[in-house]
Amino acid sequence: MKSFVVNGINDYQVVEQNVPSVSDEQVLVRVEYAGICGSDLHIIHGQNPFATYPRITGHEFVGTIEKIGENVKDLRVGTKVVVNPVISCGQCRPCKIGRSNVCTELQVIGVHTDGGFTQFQTVPASNIIALPDTINLRDATLIEPYSIAANVFNRLDASSDDTILIYGAGVIGLTIVQIANVLGIPSIIVDLLDEKLETAKQLGATYTINPKRENTEQRVMEITEGHGVPLIADAACIPALIPEIMRLAAPAGTVCLLGFSSEDSPLQQVEVIKKELTIVGSRLNNKMFPKVIDWMAQGKLDTEHLISHEFTLDTAPEAIELIETDPQKVRKALIKMH
Ligand SMILES: [Zn+2]
Ligand SMILES: [Zn+2]
Repeated sequence: MKSFVVNGINDYQVVEQNVPSVSDEQVLVRVEYAGICGSDLHIIHGQNPFATYPRITGHEFVGTIEKIGENVKDLRVGTKVVVNPVISCGQCRPCKIGRSNVCTELQVIGVHTDGGFTQFQTVPASNIIALPDTINLRDATLIEPYSIAANVFNRLDASSDDTILIYGAGVIGLTIVQIANVLGIPSIIVDLLDEKLETAKQLGATYTINPKRENTEQRVMEITEGHGVPLIADAACIPALIPEIMRLAAPAGTVCLLGFSSEDSPLQQVEVIKKELTIVGSRLNNKMFPKVIDWMAQGKLDTEHLISHEFTLDTAPEAIELIETDPQKVRKALIKMH
C-alpha cells in the first residue's frame, strides 16, 4: 500500500509500506478519502508540539472496514465508516466528567499516532462510527470538520434566538455558518477576503463584513442595534483581535476561542467583568459525530461548496504545495486513496 509520510520538518513523500496488522481491539480501515486540514500543515512545518516524526498525517478520513480484531463484536467487514480521531483514557477527571476531548492522556489520530493519508490504517474499534447508506463517503470526509463547528455551539451553549459573530471564513468559519443555519441562529461573518465572504453568503451567512472596506465594530453595532453579539466564535485566531472581540460581545455573552497561538493576547478585564462574559475554548469534538451524521443524512449540510479540490494519493504533495502557495484558492481539499 502507499502512504503519505512526513519524515521531518518540510520533508514529506508518498512511499510504499506494508499493510499494518490488526490487534484484538482494532479494525483495519480501507481508507477511501481523507481531508487536508490546517493542522496537517502545522505538523509538516514543525509547529505542532504533539506530533513526532515520521508521521502519516490526516485526521479527517473515511472508508470501509477491511478486517476486524478478535474482540470487536459490533462491526462488520465492508461497512462504510468514519473515524473519530479523538482517543481518550476514560479514567482521568476530564473523561469522568464527560469532557474526553480534553483527556489528560489525549491522543489524536493523525497527530500523536499515524492517520488517514494512506490506503489502509488500523484504528481502535471505539473510534469507528458506521455510516448510514444515505451518506456517501466523499461527503462523509467533512464529518470531522463539521464536528469542530458542532462542538463550538455546544461550548457556546447557544439557543436559536441568539445571533453569532464569526471571525474568519476559512473552512472552520464556513462550517460554523452552516451549523448556525441548522440551529436557526443568524450569523455575521468577518474576513479580509471577498471570495471567502462570497462562499459564506452562499452557505447562508446572514451578514458579511470585510474590515478592509468597513469598520467591523460600527457595522456589528448597527446590525445589533447597539447591543453587541451574544455569541462570538473566533476562527481567525489572531491574538490582537481579542480586545475588539470582547468589545463586541453583548452583556452576558459567550466568546469561544479556537486559536492555538502561544502569543500573549491583550485582554481588557473591564469588558469581561462589566458584561459578565463567559470565555470558553473549544478543542476537537466531544462526541459530536452522531449529531453531525444525523444532520448530514437529512441533507442539512452543504458539502459541495466546501470541497474545492480533489487529489489522488500520488499527487498529495502537489495538494500541500497548492495550499502553501495559494491558500485563498483552497477550501477543503480531499485526497482519494485508491
Ligand atoms: Zn481538521
Ligand atoms: Zn482521560
